[in-house]
Amino acid sequence: MNIDPDALATHRDGVRAGDRRLVAKTITLLESRRPDRAALGQAVLEALVPYTGESFRIGITGTPGVGKSSFIETLGLYLIEAGHRVAVLAVDPSSPRTGGSILGDKTRMARLSQEERAFIRPSPSGGSLGGVAHRTRETMLVCEAAGYDVVIVETVGVGQSETTVASMVDFFAVLLQPGAGDELQGMKKGVLELADALVVNKADGDLLAAAHRARSEYKHALALLQPASPNWRPPVLLVSARTGEGIDRFWQTVRDHRRALEASGELAARRREQARAWMWSLVSEGLERAFREHPAVARAIPRLEAEVEARKTTASAAARELLAAFREPAAR
Ligand code: GDP
Repeated sequence: MNIDPDALATHRDGVRAGDRRLVAKTITLLESRRPDRAALGQAVLEALVPYTGESFRIGITGTPGVGKSSFIETLGLYLIEAGHRVAVLAVDPSSPRTGGSILGDKTRMARLSQEERAFIRPSPSGGSLGGVAHRTRETMLVCEAAGYDVVIVETVGVGQSETTVASMVDFFAVLLQPGAGDELQGMKKGVLELADALVVNKADGDLLAAAHRARSEYKHALALLQPASPNWRPPVLLVSARTGEGIDRFWQTVRDHRRALEASGELAARRREQARAWMWSLVSEGLERAFREHPAVARAIPRLEAEVEARKTTASAAARELLAAFREPAAR
C-alpha cells in the first residue's frame, strides 16, 4: 500500500513534538478499519518505535467502585505536579453487545483531563480482548514517543483482561477495598499472583480501621504465595484517593520496583519476553483473520458451527474439516 510521505512526516513529527491533536489522530489511524488509514498508522508507528520504551508502564486493576478512576486521577495530578507527563489508557473488552463498556460510560477523571500534561484515552471499542489489547499496546508506544513518561493502563477484571494488561506493563497493581475477607474469596484465582503491589484504597475516615485489617489479611494471603519475581516482594499499601494519603508511597514503590528489576536485569528480560509474546499474538491474530477470510473456510463455517452445536459432528472433526479447507489453495 502506498504511504503518503507528507502525511507520514506530519504525524511522526507532530507526535514527537508532543502535539496532542496529532497524538490523538495517530491513535485513530491505528484503530481505523480502513486499510489505507491503518497502513498509514502502522508506518507512523514504525517511525516512532525508536523513541519508545522509556516510560514507567503501570497497570491498574480492580472491581468497579473500588476507586480506580479516583486513584488514577489523584496519582496523575501528583505526578504532573512532580514534573511528569502522564498518559492514561484503558483496556475494556466488554462489547456494546454485552451491555456496554464498564470503564467508559461515566465522566471520569474530570480534573486530570483538564491538564495540559495529561492524555486520557478510553478503551478502543468492540472486538476481542486480543484486538483491544493490541491497539492499546500501540497507543502506549505512541504516547511514549510523544514524551509521556508515565503510562497507566487501567482495566476491570473482565475475562482475561488482567493477565493481558499485566503482560504489557512493568508494574501491575491490584486495587482493593477495605473489608478484605469476602473479597479475597471472590477474587479471581491468579490475580494475586500477577500483582507487584496490592493497594487498599479508601483508607480514610470511617474506613481506616477496616483498611488496616484488610492490609494484614492481604499480607497473610501474599505470604502464602510464591513471589513471581526473585527480586521483588509485593507490598500491601494503604492509600486514599480522596485525601491523597499514601500516593507518594505508591509512587516510591513503583520506583523501587523499577530499580530492583533494572539492577537484576529482570526488567529488560521481561520486556524482551513481552515483545516476543506480542509478536506471536499478532501472528495468531493474522492467522485467524486469514483463516476466517479464506473463501472455502468462510463458506463452511456456518454449516459446521451448526452441526457442532446440534452434535451432528464433533468439534474436532469440524475443526479438521475447516483446517483441511484452509490448506486447499483458495479458488480465485
Ligand atoms: P472505579 O469504578 O473503580 O473507577 O471507582 P471510582 O473512582 O468511580 O470510585 C467509586 C466510589 O468510591 C466513588 O463514589 C468515589 O467517590 C469513592 N472513592 C474513591 N476513592 C475513594 C477514597 O479514597 N476514599 C473514599 N472514602 N471514597 C473513595
